[in-house]
Amino acid sequence: MTEHFRNFISGSWIEPANGQYIENVNPARTSDIVGLFPDTDPSELDVAVESAQRGFEDWSRVPAPERGLVLKKAGDLLSERKEELAHIMTREMGKVLDETRGDVQEAIDTAYYAAVEGRRLFGHTVPSELRSKWAMSFRRPIGVFGIITPFNFPVAVPSWKIFPALLCGNSIIYKPSEDTPSSANYFVDVLLEAGLPPECVQLVHGHGETIGHAIASHPGVPGLSFTGSTETGRSIGEIAGRMHKRLSLEMGGKNAQIVMPDADLELALEGVLWGAFGTTGQRCTATSRLLLHREIHDEFVERLVYKADSLELGDGQHAQVDVGPLIHEAARDKCEAYVEIACAEGATVKCGGDQPTGKEFGEGWFFKPTVLTGVQRDHRTAREEIFGPVLSVLKFNDTDEAFEINNEVLYGLSSSIYTTDVNVSFRAIQELDNGITYVNAPTIGAEAHLPFGGVKATGNGHREGGWEVYEFYTETKVAYLDYSGRLQRAQIDVEW
Ligand code: NAD
Repeated sequence: MTEHFRNFISGSWIEPANGQYIENVNPARTSDIVGLFPDTDPSELDVAVESAQRGFEDWSRVPAPERGLVLKKAGDLLSERKEELAHIMTREMGKVLDETRGDVQEAIDTAYYAAVEGRRLFGHTVPSELRSKWAMSFRRPIGVFGIITPFNFPVAVPSWKIFPALLCGNSIIYKPSEDTPSSANYFVDVLLEAGLPPECVQLVHGHGETIGHAIASHPGVPGLSFTGSTETGRSIGEIAGRMHKRLSLEMGGKNAQIVMPDADLELALEGVLWGAFGTTGQRCTATSRLLLHREIHDEFVERLVYKADSLELGDGQHAQVDVGPLIHEAARDKCEAYVEIACAEGATVKCGGDQPTGKEFGEGWFFKPTVLTGVQRDHRTAREEIFGPVLSVLKFNDTDEAFEINNEVLYGLSSSIYTTDVNVSFRAIQELDNGITYVNAPTIGAEAHLPFGGVKATGNGHREGGWEVYEFYTETKVAYLDYSGRLQRAQIDVEW
């Protein structure tokens, strides 16, 4: 019998009041039903918000180093259960086990980083303009944060948001992707077992347009952290702007790997195979464009196509598999549609371009690793996010042109350049218009203790990860203490 999962609201695991559920299936084999998850009605949100507000009252007063201990424990539990959680994630999301293990590891790293940050959360003490007066700033928690996450990193992305939010003393309402709800239940269980006071976390499942929208619009939720498509982020941004909410947006990408003629081509080849086809191309940092210098273009394409064609497709639970399925039918249809668009625009399909045939693929959303050549700068496949294993190859003549091509898209998450020229490397890290640039490494591979995020239509100026995210989840307050015993007027009574 199919398991019915529940929401976590007001300190208890509860069924949705409307009795409605969303079926979650294994994208590698859709007859494998992972479970039924609440299709929560927005009318249930008030109760969750009130509970989170109560949770905040107590939790915000717990000393930050003590809050950090809860996160340390959460990291320990994730570490002990890494294998179990990785299997749950692969079953519901499709990416291969090595990658879901990495997904859990990222959450572990983030937990340990957050735990230590509980002893920092620095403010500033600075001299006052006036005698016998003290001036300092410090950080205060904000309240209830709405956390809305995508499917592609079912544990890592929530951890980037939830751990810092909690460490800073906030409570959260967590709405995971409707495609990866199972990992979310597991994650919340870990937090509770680690000792988080139950009212500090509310887990509400359901569709983005209903419960996600309700969280974004709720007046009792003053902060929002969203990762997902630029289109959804824009709609949340409009609400947050109108309601004066604090908002962090991490959105789409169209990342490029540049290969210069002096590069180690074997290394560049390994890099693009991992960057373009890892996670079946469903990473925000996935390599979606490969920019090849004209001198090495033909040779590189030949080697790439040979390697891409030999990648093993299949169920991510099997050790020999390199590339799992896409998340759902619509994602596969999108890849097919973009291949058609590319052909209509004059590009050539060098490999892949369609679904694999064979019994083992009949029940999953598989799409072959695809390489398109002859893509021009104004083609849609050179500019739009596809979010699948479809790589567009563009040819360039010199460094300036490569940088222009990299920078001319709407998005600005990550970029990569392969070169042995130190001057070109430094030009790239300064001139490529992205939040992250890798030199001699693929477009993917962020580390938990550095800020993560993008420019232009990828973000709204905030960063996840590293030290910067702790500023997002706190409000700066300034305090002045005048111990002169007399009225001192700033800017008027200065004695110099
Ligand atoms: P999505 O935008 O469809 O959904 C993301 C989340 O938003 C889900 O939980 C969904 O239910 C919710 N949602 C949908 N409509 C909503 C609405 N109107 N109001 C509130 N919530 C709503 O994205 P997805 O398909 O799950 O993920 C893929 C996208 O995420 C890609 O564009 C990818 O680039 C992006 N992404 C970006 C980063 C980054 O850090 N920049 C990381 C991972 C994924």
